[in-house]
Amino acid sequence: MLDNYTNKKASPVRGVKVRTLNVVMILVSFILYVLLLLVTFGTAKNYDSTVNATGQYVHCRENASQVSDASDYLTEQVRLFTVTLDSTHAKNYFEEIQVTRRRENALNELNDLATPQALSYLESALEFSNQLMERELYAMRLTAEANHIPPISLDKQVEDVQLHKEHLDLSPQEKDALAKEMVFGSEYQSQKKLIASNVNSFLTDVLRSTLDDQESGIAALNISIFLERVLFSVLFLQNILVFGVISFLIVKPLQVYVNCIKEEKRMEITGAYEFKYLALTYNDIYELNAANEVMLRHQAEHDPLTGIMNRGAFDHVRQLLKIKSKPVALLMMDIDHFKEINDSYGHETGDRLLKRVARLLEEGFRSTDFIARVGGDEFAVILTDMENNQKTAMEQKVQAINSLLLHPKDNLPPASVSAGAAFSEHGFSDELYREADAALYQVKKNGRCGCRVFQPGTPLAEQEEAQN
Ligand code: GH3
Ligand code: MG
Repeated sequence: MLDNYTNKKASPVRGVKVRTLNVVMILVSFILYVLLLLVTFGTAKNYDSTVNATGQYVHCRENASQVSDASDYLTEQVRLFTVTLDSTHAKNYFEEIQVTRRRENALNELNDLATPQALSYLESALEFSNQLMERELYAMRLTAEANHIPPISLDKQVEDVQLHKEHLDLSPQEKDALAKEMVFGSEYQSQKKLIASNVNSFLTDVLRSTLDDQESGIAALNISIFLERVLFSVLFLQNILVFGVISFLIVKPLQVYVNCIKEEKRMEITGAYEFKYLALTYNDIYELNAANEVMLRHQAEHDPLTGIMNRGAFDHVRQLLKIKSKPVALLMMDIDHFKEINDSYGHETGDRLLKRVARLLEEGFRSTDFIARVGGDEFAVILTDMENNQKTAMEQKVQAINSLLLHPKDNLPPASVSAGAAFSEHGFSDELYREADAALYQVKKNGRCGCRVFQPGTPLAEQEEAQN
């Protein structure tokens, strides 16, 4: 049976493998988390670019103000000089254009921030401002000439200015007036307006591109947030799926299997492939053990030659029946001259005769009776629920067996059995055993081939005498 089991191939199992599920879940989780990470980085980037767009606009505005402020400062200083003749204003003027250089610095800073289109407006503003500078230097030179201020005391650039011939011939008052006209006049004002309008165009352009940047940044941010929500939802669903899978394919089957083991029964084939495989293997071993147990119990309780109960099982039944108070009868039986049969016909024939007697006993008695081979050629029958008035029936059964054995039809030699019986009203007892044995002894002693029932109330010795 064990060989059968070991040669047996595992039953085909169908089901989802925990290992496969595990790999799939790890892969899906990994992909989802990587995607979530990328989207989160994207969201942060989009948020930064939206915030930066505002910051850039503020920065551009500040730098554009620097250009306007510097230009206005130059206007203010040159005007103050022409009016007050205070050379400090001229110095302030040249400090601005040579040292502080706010306009140029602002433009440099904007190189990386603003678009080329926007920058072109600011470059135009600077160009107009530089054009005004020529006018302003000319006005300063005229003022210096009119007021006998050495031009070099103001700046080399003032000294380098060449006055037109017709202006050289003007009186100091006319020169002063012309100088003021040059920096206060409508031509100067319209030039200043050009500067302001270019700065404004720059700011409008920067604002437009900032709004565009913000708009696209917010759109990208919205997409990122939407993707994050989708990924979080998918991750949430995936987690629920994992819990469900663990619960249905692993936890529940484990509980079922533990209960089956506790209840010592076959396992239900459920859960993941691995559990089903384990359950099928367990069931195979379970069936093998059950079959082995039946076989071992049968071997322990039965006589291998005749297949009926052996001595051990018979003694066990005797013990069990001792505690029952119901009527019982014991029939002890022994084949007559069995040694001679063995000697004359061979041991094999002797074995066949033993089997024959066993079959006849099984056929002759009820299925509720216990039939056992208790010795070499000795048999015993325990008859349950037997009354004393059934003695004759028992004697008739022995007689029927003997008539069949004496006239064999299966190539067996003629044979006979001797039997002794005893009845008890209150279950089995050692006394009953001795009484049946004594009755059997009497039959043997009185010519064999018969049955005698022990008479209750009569001592064994007296019965023997009575028989003699
Ligand atoms: P009696 O009529 O007085 O019973 O005489 P007997 O020859 O039958 O004597 P007894 O019952 O003592 O003999 C039992 C014999 O049974 C002894 C032994 O050789 C034989 N025997 C015991 N077991 C087996 C067995 O399994 N097979 C066979 N063929 N013979 C057995
Ligand atoms: Mg015998």
